[in-house]
Amino acid sequence: MKLQNKAMLITYADSLGHNLKDLSYVMNRYFSKAIGGIHLLPIFPSNGDRGFSPTRYDMVDPKFGTWKDVEQLSQQYYLMFDFMINHLSKHSDYFQDFQAKHEESKYHDLFLSWDKFWPAGRPTQKDIDLIYKRKDKAPYQEIHFKDGSQEKMWNTFGPDQMDLDVRTKTTQEFIKQNLQNLAKHGASLIRLDAFAYAIKKLDTNDFFVEPEIWSLLEEVNDYLKDTPATILPEIHEHYTMPFKVAEHGYFIYDFALPMVLLYSLYSGNSIQLAKWLKKCPMKQFTTLDTHDGLGVVDAKDILTDEQIDYTTQKLYQIGANVKKKYSSAEYHNLDIYQINTTYYSALGNDDQKYFLARLLQIFAPGIPQIYYVGLLAGENDIQLLEKTKEGRDINRHYYELAEIKKQVNRPVVKSLIKLLEFRNSAAAFDLDGSIDVATPSDHEIVITRMNKAKTDVASAKVDFQNLTYQVKYNDQVFGF
Ligand code: BGC
Repeated sequence: MKLQNKAMLITYADSLGHNLKDLSYVMNRYFSKAIGGIHLLPIFPSNGDRGFSPTRYDMVDPKFGTWKDVEQLSQQYYLMFDFMINHLSKHSDYFQDFQAKHEESKYHDLFLSWDKFWPAGRPTQKDIDLIYKRKDKAPYQEIHFKDGSQEKMWNTFGPDQMDLDVRTKTTQEFIKQNLQNLAKHGASLIRLDAFAYAIKKLDTNDFFVEPEIWSLLEEVNDYLKDTPATILPEIHEHYTMPFKVAEHGYFIYDFALPMVLLYSLYSGNSIQLAKWLKKCPMKQFTTLDTHDGLGVVDAKDILTDEQIDYTTQKLYQIGANVKKKYSSAEYHNLDIYQINTTYYSALGNDDQKYFLARLLQIFAPGIPQIYYVGLLAGENDIQLLEKTKEGRDINRHYYELAEIKKQVNRPVVKSLIKLLEFRNSAAAFDLDGSIDVATPSDHEIVITRMNKAKTDVASAKVDFQNLTYQVKYNDQVFGF
């Protein structure tokens, strides 16, 4: 199914039930009108990072199901798959072949050699300090080859995620084959995971390197031009970077909204939120939650540094079981820019505040994405977190079918489903239409959406002080 202007669910294949068949059952049983598309978090055989260290893309991990299951799902929902353009598993056949045959391997230049990258006498400490890193050491790993030699290989993320050398023909062919294959199996969107790390260039910070990053996106776009799939580049950084991506005509994510909305809901102030909603493009996917933590750096300069500090502090005070240590190295979270929590718990497990957050999300420009835990207004899962000591697991609860059956009957979940059904069916949310944002006072916001044909108008008025709302559709008051 082609991309539609309908809410997209983000889920692992084994989060709502145990596999793709269960997921399909759950979707059709409870959410077929509330959800139009699904971001299936990595479904490929993988060796870590919950799928983000794939070994191959030509098959579905048998524990989730088969391509047939995926294709069936794609008949009813538009689908998004991940492509990890920066890396591939150390346990992939490709890397194993390289390790066994070294320079003789046909994949010898698929991966990025740290040693060959640097000219003699470098990297200096200054070079290493300049790199935009996810960890507190130089991003390489020493690899021992079968021939007895050793070489340092570039390694941005976890120990299994070996960086690709996107400059070589071998890698370009690898990217092309796999992307086209994903498009064949029902992808209408392909999320380019962590794409800003893919280009490495001397004397830069190796992140979002221009102009090379644009050539890479064009290359990918070109591979997909005869397919129904389009790309969604993923970047967590200052909003000006995704905005540049939008200027180049691509879809982007709004990762700033989660913190900006929290600020409004904690402080009672509507002004920053209104400014942000006036600024961001229509061709985007909005988020409040994903499988990662809440992006803090994403909100910089939309909120002032003081407002960001205030929001972060409130998160730890008001949030239910939100603790600093859950986003620290102790819980394997080296990304200092993200805070791990469910969105519902960030709001103190408060139904009314949570509903308001989602209401504002669906009125924001773009297509709303909702993470599966968010769809069920889920609380922080401390048990899972303590079991794995993995910070992001606080927001990765595994739902059994019986539990889902119970959760969908909670009033807050029922309202949410109704809200999403409304969003998917109302013409006023046309992406080619218009949006007007007003602030009658510094604690109120009114968002008005109208379709291009000007036949339908939807408006939402939210009062952040007394936590009330009013929604109107073509002048008729609407309740959820
Ligand atoms: C994904 C993360 C993942 C990382 C490396 C990110 O941007 O969202 O979950 O750990 O890329 O693949």
